[in-house]
Amino acid sequence: MVRRFNGKSSMDNTNGNSFIARLKRYSILGWFRAIRLKCSGKKVVVTGSCNLCGRCCRRVSLEAGGRWLRSEAEFNRLLTIYPEYRRFSLTGRDSQGFLLFTCSWYDEPSGVCRDHENRLEICRSYPDIDLYFTGGEIHGGCGYQFSEVVPFEKILKRELDTQHGSRRKKKSTGD
Ligand code: SF4
Ligand code: SF4
Repeated sequence: MVRRFNGKSSMDNTNGNSFIARLKRYSILGWFRAIRLKCSGKKVVVTGSCNLCGRCCRRVSLEAGGRWLRSEAEFNRLLTIYPEYRRFSLTGRDSQGFLLFTCSWYDEPSGVCRDHENRLEICRSYPDIDLYFTGGEIHGGCGYQFSEVVPFEKILKRELDTQHGSRRKKKSTGD
């Protein structure tokens, strides 16, 4: 399974949704958020739209095996499994020491992907909701945001329960 996180992406999260896999991937803040959502009955959704700023193509973080890449050797190992990632060139590190890449498919003048139709799966799914739990961030200036919302089904159920309760009350009082 291929996933895209921070400025982008990750690959190779086989069993990516198992409890153990999540335990390994989530950051401390991510666990705090997950518990808060569980307690409040909310879920996280992605809202907004792409404004074609290109930041997520120019400042890319990659993850493999549940860990953000820190060394070129890790990246080279990744290329043997995912040769399509050769489009990413190492540009430096972020403040936490994780590798940063830029994508050679990004066309600076037009601000769009050179082959948008065939962009990687990790690009299609950006920003992946897992990012909210793994310690990554949506780029500043990105048109997407994460929002914690009460699911529609819950609002509907609450409304129906309220109406049902009112009807029962009316019946019992004979109004
Ligand atoms: S493949 Fe296209 S969409 Fe994906 S990072 Fe590269 S330029 Fe951006
Ligand atoms: S708005 Fe967000 S998704 Fe669109 S190009 Fe910018 S960083 Fe990427």
